[in-house]
Amino acid sequence: MLNIRITPTQNKKEKPDQTKLGFGRYFTDHMFLMDYNEGQGWHDARIVPFGNLSLSPATMVFHYAQEMFEGMKAYLSPEGKILLFRPDMNAKRLNRTNQRMIIPELPEKDFVDAVKAIVKYDSDWIPTAPGTSLYIRPFIIATDPFLGVHPSESYLFAIILSPVGAYYASGINPVKIFVEKHYTRAVRGGTGYAKVGGNYASSLIGQQKAEEMGYAQVLWLDGIEHKYIDEVGAMNVFFVVDGEVLTPSLDEGSILPGVTRDSCIHLLKSWGYKVTERKISLEEIVRANEEGRLDEAFGTGTAAVISPIGELNDDGNKMILNEGKIGPISQKLYDSLTAIQWGRAEGPEGWSVIVD
Ligand SMILES: *Cc1c(COP(=O)(O)O)cnc(C)c1O
Repeated sequence: MLNIRITPTQNKKEKPDQTKLGFGRYFTDHMFLMDYNEGQGWHDARIVPFGNLSLSPATMVFHYAQEMFEGMKAYLSPEGKILLFRPDMNAKRLNRTNQRMIIPELPEKDFVDAVKAIVKYDSDWIPTAPGTSLYIRPFIIATDPFLGVHPSESYLFAIILSPVGAYYASGINPVKIFVEKHYTRAVRGGTGYAKVGGNYASSLIGQQKAEEMGYAQVLWLDGIEHKYIDEVGAMNVFFVVDGEVLTPSLDEGSILPGVTRDSCIHLLKSWGYKVTERKISLEEIVRANEEGRLDEAFGTGTAAVISPIGELNDDGNKMILNEGKIGPISQKLYDSLTAIQWGRAEGPEGWSVIVD
């Protein structure tokens, strides 16, 4: 049981205009913090006013990126209940990431309890406009003030909250994707399966290159042969070929195991679709498109839920999928998942967790 000390803020901020929230620009009145030291373990759980951290410039995270993060949301149901979506999955993933980064384990229950506590404390910040939600960003940083290359002996676990706008303000727009064949996001034996900032830092250049050419995101291929499909932007990727749903398997360790990905696989199977997790070569997708068998493609992640792919540019070969429109499977997944997340429909047992 976490014993959480609370220091309320003395000046509550004005809430932002719910029609102009965007993503990750506004933060709530408080944050959750907890320290780790060798000997003491995780201790001093507290909710304090949202504010700057004071750290030595020698703090390890600044130099060697020993850190991790999670991403999830709190949703308001039509009855005004606060809902989390499968937080146990985030807790498990956090510890798989921690293990890879040699960050000490955080008990799953403490993680979920901390998320619930801060969301409840700042629940007046959960926006009410359709499609809006409260984005939750838990993260852990190495805090030893030490320049030696060695795992830190102290850490800070923090949770900050940000009210976010509807991802699709004017209908779901399929995105244009550039197939990246030079830069790689992750390799076998690397940190692809771990949710760490370093993966993002190294992918920025590919993202920038795609944007300069008028594309929204990058399709990442495997880091060894540049032949097999890994992810799209910071999302997992699905293809529908001849009615069969394909998604890259997690076996190589270069793919982030998304909660949305897992939820899509579960729902699709429950609806009777054939879903296959395996290696998928780019060549196979190009061929399926040429033969008119590529029905639709989409990315999955907490922010967008489903992001349909309208165009894939492979070295100048522009493949237009489903006439650049959202496909029926993408639409059905989007409608079903958002209904469950916002409490308009009942999902499988345990998916919706009430914060009370
Ligand atoms: C977080 C993340 C995802 C999506 O995971 P969800 O749990 O569905 O939000 C996919 N790919 C990468 C690289 C990520 O960091």
